[in-house]
Amino acid sequence: MRWFWALALVLSGTTAQAAGYGAPPADLNARLDKLVKSYPDFLDRHDDKYLYLKDGRKFAISDGRTDKTFDEMIEHADIDDMFFADYPAGADATAPAPNFDPGRVRFEPLFDAMYGDCDRGEVEPKMRSIAWLPKHHGGGVSITTVNGVDKALAAVSADLDNLPEKYMRYLIPNSGTYNCRRVAGSTSRSVHAWGAAIDINSAASDYWRWSKDGWHNRIPVEIARVFERHGFIWGGRWWHYDTMHFEYRPELLP
Ligand SMILES: [Zn+2]
Repeated sequence: MRWFWALALVLSGTTAQAAGYGAPPADLNARLDKLVKSYPDFLDRHDDKYLYLKDGRKFAISDGRTDKTFDEMIEHADIDDMFFADYPAGADATAPAPNFDPGRVRFEPLFDAMYGDCDRGEVEPKMRSIAWLPKHHGGGVSITTVNGVDKALAAVSADLDNLPEKYMRYLIPNSGTYNCRRVAGSTSRSVHAWGAAIDINSAASDYWRWSKDGWHNRIPVEIARVFERHGFIWGGRWWHYDTMHFEYRPELLP
């Protein structure tokens, strides 16, 4: 029976943990151009090897690895890994392919450089409160002013405020913005730790860690399209779905 165990080992090595992540996308240069344009207050330029910040720092585009497991890519992303999957802006809400998580991979030093390190108290001083769906008395939300995220979220709020009443139960109450924490079950930072994400009503939402039987979503896609028009991506488009979650990632949007 030895052949059976050998085969089982080979098969188990090719399922969810399959290595082979980390290669740059074919259109890396265009992706990097878009990245630089998306964060003009902080990013100056790029070449084949480095992303140059306006404060004189630079980050390597690649760590040279193309053999990462999916989880290694999430935990140890480089800049080119952030573009491993195309974000389907404006698309219908449908079940993504396994591990299709565009935007869930983040090169953390870049985000720390822009928004600050919350463990050092650098994020909160840059936040301000904006009205959340004021026509519907949605209260206030605190959000970073870095990269104009506050203005972008105010524009989202104004558009959402004009949607039909049936959408309001997904939006009010919201479930929070800033939280200095790691992603549950991970060492990675959540974009909530940079004050650049919002969770809408968790009571109407689904999260991959809450159920083990594949993608679920109850959030109307019209809500996601409003966010996407103003620079936010939606966690409902991920295989590892988080349907209440929106984060500011204009580099992944048209
Ligand atoms: Zn969230």
